[in-house]
Amino acid sequence: MIEKSFLVQKFAKLRLDKIHIIGYSVAGEETVVQIPELDVCFDIGRAPYFALTSNIICISHGHMDHMAGLAYYLSQRHFQGMKPGTILVPAELERPIDSMLRCWRDVERQGTPYKLIAMEPGRDHAVRKDFIIRGLETHHGGTSLGYALISVRDKLKAEYLGRPGPELATLRKQGVPIQYRTEVPLVTFLGDTTAGKVFDHPDVQNAEILITECTFFDPIHRQRAKVGKHLHIEQFAEILPKLKNQHIILIHVSRRTGLRRAKSTLKKRIGEEEMQRIHFLMDIQDATPAGEIESAGPPAADSPE
Ligand SMILES: [Zn+2]
Ligand SMILES: [Zn+2]
Repeated sequence: MIEKSFLVQKFAKLRLDKIHIIGYSVAGEETVVQIPELDVCFDIGRAPYFALTSNIICISHGHMDHMAGLAYYLSQRHFQGMKPGTILVPAELERPIDSMLRCWRDVERQGTPYKLIAMEPGRDHAVRKDFIIRGLETHHGGTSLGYALISVRDKLKAEYLGRPGPELATLRKQGVPIQYRTEVPLVTFLGDTTAGKVFDHPDVQNAEILITECTFFDPIHRQRAKVGKHLHIEQFAEILPKLKNQHIILIHVSRRTGLRRAKSTLKKRIGEEEMQRIHFLMDIQDATPAGEIESAGPPAADSPE
């Protein structure tokens, strides 16, 4: 008998309101989570084909299961005639990642272009005037970051509502601050992290969609979670009451616990009602086999490889 799971890797495709979450995430194996509507992919895993379509990649930390495919992603995009990818990385990793990519240029003898952006906790990268990506400090031992995708809007202050346009224009010209800025965290992604102050951050607590790891579910794995600086279900259950998210997506579940058992353990711990807003990314009800998702990738290039 051939082990079927080795033949087709299945990717998850979750639809939450207007946003899709496409990806794959198993602890130690591969993590890649794409939000196609926002043109962002969190971590790159082994660079599955669908991930090539994201112009922005946010790297959470340097572990191989989260970023092995980075050079491949950049090289493939170049090969396919797509524009260079923009890669957000924790500032301390910028230099080693840059060296790695330069090595690949020599190895492959192809001048693959790329753009690295050094990120730090609290630093914003403006994608557009109305869309920023903010770095968040996570707790995984070494250097690691989470990312919040934030919609930014300027709104008219209450006292100026209903005033005629020309009057507002004059006030604006005079430098009167008639607007205030609002931020809506749409999606926040925490790569690998244990419990800590990141869960008190407003962009984590208030994000419409929060994607967080929860690696371990068995009582005997508490020590393992502590050593690896990962989240254990007990910690998650304690954090949950302060999270106001509409949807919480759990990723990075260890293969040591089957997904079905992880789900039922969590349900027993937090109750049916709280489960309504929790999704396990790899609970592949809505997922389609790799082939179908991969057809959303770029067309094959004519040039020989
Ligand atoms: Zn990991
Ligand atoms: Zn890790």
